Amino acid sequence: MVYAAVGIHPHEASHFAREAADVRSLLSEGKVVAVGEIGLDYHRDWVAGADQRTAFVEQVQWARDRDLPVSVHNRDADVDVLAILRQQGVRGVLHCFSGSWDFARSALDASMHLSFAGNLTYPKAADLREVAAKVPLDRTLIETDAPVLAPQPWRGRRNEPAFILATLEALAQVRGVSASCLATCVSRNADSLFAWRGG
Ligand SMILES: [Zn+2]
Repeated sequence: MVYAAVGIHPHEASHFAREAADVRSLLSEGKVVAVGEIGLDYHRDWVAGADQRTAFVEQVQWARDRDLPVSVHNRDADVDVLAILRQQGVRGVLHCFSGSWDFARSALDASMHLSFAGNLTYPKAADLREVAAKVPLDRTLIETDAPVLAPQPWRGRRNEPAFILATLEALAQVRGVSASCLATCVSRNADSLFAWRGG
């Protein structure tokens, strides 16, 4: 039941040249269903932006060449992330989405899915819940981002997969649908994006 995404995270982009060949060879493994997490992080900014962009662009190309989706990490880099995804024309997911509705709409136009994590449940996340309520259901995913971002009421604790239910329930509530209906829907979306059943 366990599948993998492989990729070089923006925090590790300074090792890209050294590790690219190894990571790339893993992409042909049968249970690797996505290239990720890849992307840009200008918030931590641990690696120079130019190096992050080089690693991101190349890995997006790997995904496109193999018809794999990308799982994208983005912090404070909306404009550049979007520009690269558009230019490369790849499908995938913006993981742990926490952006504005404007950015969400542009990402949806660029064929991305948006995935929501435990921070959706936090009391101060009203804006994010408003965004999440408007994303088309067939482009919506949820995720744990474990071990971080545990949802309420476990916030601050080590996150684990079982806690995804709290995120599901919060999203179902803002969307006005039942949790079981939303669960069916996001599972179907994941199946189709990652092609991990019989794919
Ligand atoms: Zn991330």
